[in-house]
Amino acid sequence: MRIKLAKTAGFCMGVQRAIDMALRTAETTTDGKPIHTCGPLIHNPQAVAELESKGIRSIADWRPVAEGTMIIRAHGMPIEEIGEMRARGLTIVDATCPHVVSSQNRIKRASEEGYFVVIVGDPRHPEILSLQSFAPGNHQVISSVEEVALLPEVPKAIVIAQTTFHEKQYDLIAKAVSERISDCRIVQSICKATSNRQAEVERLASEVDVMVVVGGRDSANTRRLAEIAEARGVRTIHIETADELDPSFFRGAETAGVTAGASTPAWITRSVIERLETFSS
Ligand code: SF4
Repeated sequence: MRIKLAKTAGFCMGVQRAIDMALRTAETTTDGKPIHTCGPLIHNPQAVAELESKGIRSIADWRPVAEGTMIIRAHGMPIEEIGEMRARGLTIVDATCPHVVSSQNRIKRASEEGYFVVIVGDPRHPEILSLQSFAPGNHQVISSVEEVALLPEVPKAIVIAQTTFHEKQYDLIAKAVSERISDCRIVQSICKATSNRQAEVERLASEVDVMVVVGGRDSANTRRLAEIAEARGVRTIHIETADELDPSFFRGAETAGVTAGASTPAWITRSVIERLETFSS
């Protein structure tokens, strides 16, 4: 079976930067105080386990933490929570991705200028929770064209997307908002690392018999890649590690495409390819 690996597979700049910052923090923290991330630093359980072995622990709730360092992950965090952490005396290492910071700043500025903020994304995603905090009481999160009808009557609005949102879906939603609100500014906030990856998986899916998408099940951008491949009608499997590969899935396939989410370490993708190379068609 021939294997085609997507050029865009693997860590994006924001994830690499967050991991580098976390590892540097672990190396330079000598006071014995704990180092935490509030939620996994990236949506990849294997990478999180690796960080844990270096003393960087992921916790679900930062509030019981009394001391030490808190690393803010690439998705960012609600601004008021970061303020509370500082007030408590925790050392903050802010690894929020610069693209997310840019969205936060756009939202803050627009809200201060009187624009209502329409945030397009998954309302439970940490990035969205962070973005919302920059326009308190002056925003709405939507994720479909149907939800545009639920927006309040406002004179002017900006529309901004989660950095990992599906590009084509965003275009449709933004268009629907601009038809509803005449003074409407649409922000192109989808990260290129995401859109390039999505465009490549779409191309790759049309050239192969099966697609393997590698990455955390909780990773929004990885799940999106699998959805795009499936929508192209190609047999697709989303796995976290090589152990989940079942040879029967690949029976009859001559070419397999492989891509990986922005938070998937290269060593995991490599082990998937090594395993696939042992399968015959
Ligand atoms: S996908 Fe883009 S926005 Fe998200 S962390 Fe990576 S570089 Fe940043």
